[in-house]
Amino acid sequence: MNTTAIYPGTFDPITDGHLDIIARASRLFEKVIIAVAANKGKTPLFSLEERVALAAEVTEQFQNVSIIGFNNLLVDCAKEQGAEVVLRGLRAVSDFEYEFQLAGMNRRLSPELETLFLTPAEQYEFISSSMIREIAKLKGDVSSFVPECVEKQLHKKFA
Ligand code: ADP
Repeated sequence: MNTTAIYPGTFDPITDGHLDIIARASRLFEKVIIAVAANKGKTPLFSLEERVALAAEVTEQFQNVSIIGFNNLLVDCAKEQGAEVVLRGLRAVSDFEYEFQLAGMNRRLSPELETLFLTPAEQYEFISSSMIREIAKLKGDVSSFVPECVEKQLHKKFA
């Protein structure tokens, strides 16, 4: 597709689930922009700079994927970046209500921007950044859910 897609999220930190979505998007779209949200009122474990750097490191192999940090409204950021599509991942029915509301609100704010959803391979369906943070905090093994450099940074945070 001759289209630029923007994939927004907190990515605190980026996981194998996010990467599965990014790999699929990289094959579908001409350009994919991973847009790392500054905070969204949450208090992220990793700073915006750290989250952007980790996302950049683990997506090096994708020629058409780039990373930005943003702290304005997503629809404005998408416009600035020339993106026609907002990409979100859907894991389970539990994601649906929030994602449906977000897509509806973004459509009201910017009718020409389309939200598209991708689902990950089933082995990634249960991975969430919050659960990864919790497991790492309690010294559990997260090596099968996140890339190695992310695992290392998690160890450092909770050392
Ligand atoms: P947000 O706080 O905006 O939901 P996240 O970083 O948690 O940001 O997620 C960004 C997007 O990636 C969301 O659409 C989320 O549903 C999706 N996502 C998160 N984890 C996975 C996963 N394991 N598989 C597929 N999509 C995922």
